[in-house]
Amino acid sequence: MITKAPKGTADILPSQAYKWQYIENQIKKICEEFCIKEIRTPVFEHTELFERGVGDTTDVVGKEMYTFNDKGDRSITLRPEGTASAARAYIEHGLFNEPQPVKVYYLIKCYRYEKPQAGRYREFSQFGVEVYGSREPSVDAEIMALPMVLYKRLGLKNLTLNINSIGCPVCRKEYNKKLKEFLTANYDNLCDTCKERFDKNPMRIIDCKSPICKDIVKGAPKLLDCICDECSDHFEKVKKNLTAMGIEYRIDPYIVRGLDYYTKTVFEIIADNKNSNSTVCGGGRYDGLIEELGGNSMPACGFALGMERLLLTMEEQGVEIPGADVTDIYIGNIGEESNLFAQSLVMALREKGVIAEKDHLGKSVKAQMKYANKINARYSMIIGDTEIAEGKVRLKNMTDGTETECTLTADEIAGAIK
Ligand code: ATP
Ligand code: MG
Repeated sequence: MITKAPKGTADILPSQAYKWQYIENQIKKICEEFCIKEIRTPVFEHTELFERGVGDTTDVVGKEMYTFNDKGDRSITLRPEGTASAARAYIEHGLFNEPQPVKVYYLIKCYRYEKPQAGRYREFSQFGVEVYGSREPSVDAEIMALPMVLYKRLGLKNLTLNINSIGCPVCRKEYNKKLKEFLTANYDNLCDTCKERFDKNPMRIIDCKSPICKDIVKGAPKLLDCICDECSDHFEKVKKNLTAMGIEYRIDPYIVRGLDYYTKTVFEIIADNKNSNSTVCGGGRYDGLIEELGGNSMPACGFALGMERLLLTMEEQGVEIPGADVTDIYIGNIGEESNLFAQSLVMALREKGVIAEKDHLGKSVKAQMKYANKINARYSMIIGDTEIAEGKVRLKNMTDGTETECTLTADEIAGAIK
């Protein structure tokens, strides 16, 4: 038991961690370019935040949350997503008083009690962005452009941006009426969850994963055909902005998104994965959430992208990730005095930004060189009493096996291996 991680969780071992670091660095860079600042919020929140902010008719709140009472008898939930927490922080710290828009990003672990499978875990990682305080369609378009640009930079291909508008509460009310009329004849065949949705939030039936419900909603009225003039105008402008940025998209009138707080623009980015879940990113506009959580009415727009699915997609597409195990130099030694010398030398090299390693096990020279190979050292050297006395050392290029003589100082060595 104690030597096995809980179901649906995964360790990221040193042999894999560089991939995460690489992607995280790319994410930090792109956010900087888009003038988006990082926000860090707690791993757990009051359960009510998600019930209100995600919506209790959603699968996330209805079935998937890790909820428990703490020792003070408060109901606590491990965050299943990042939007509600960031919105809570925006309200709590009065970020609406700052010049708008406020643009934040987060790289977080999320928790959902789901059936584990490829691309679906109980602990997983999201990269998300939220932009508060603007109703402009250019924000919606940037929110969709950012992940598309990121995927492209990472070398991914065949990703489709699918967009839709689910209108505002006014046009959705009209739509819900039409949808219910359409579904009435088949009401008895809907799954139990959808029967509940029928009264509480019929639009969500479109999103049901059950094959029977999927069949029933085929040919259902499209929300996009029913949205009001304002929402329709907004959607047209979003599309124009995407085109202006050179971002390709497809219109998918059946995207509704799982979460309750969306208004107007919704979108999903789909990869053509064969072996794993292919929805790699989702998001949209949620002008109602801040008010729903007790703040002043403030528009907002955002996305969340699954990091594990991103990595799986990169693997499936055979995208190489740079940064695997590289060491600039391995400093071998023979004996106690040269061990100390090697110790001071690796430290001096590290001060110069060189990735340097030495022996820490009292290994034989042969075993030291074997280790140098294991850690992919680009160069190596062996220091003994003679080298120290003469102040010279043979520097070995591990790639082609050639050796050159080099003065035994950190400056010279760092210069020689650049
Ligand atoms: P799905 O329909 O696949 O369950 P979702 O609509 O529940 O996705 P969101 O809440 O929109 O997902 O989360 C945004 C992204 O987070 C998803 O597109 C996906 O990449 C990732 N994600 C969601 N749930 C999981 C999970 N259990 N394990 C791994 N990644 C996940
Ligand atoms: Mg889900």
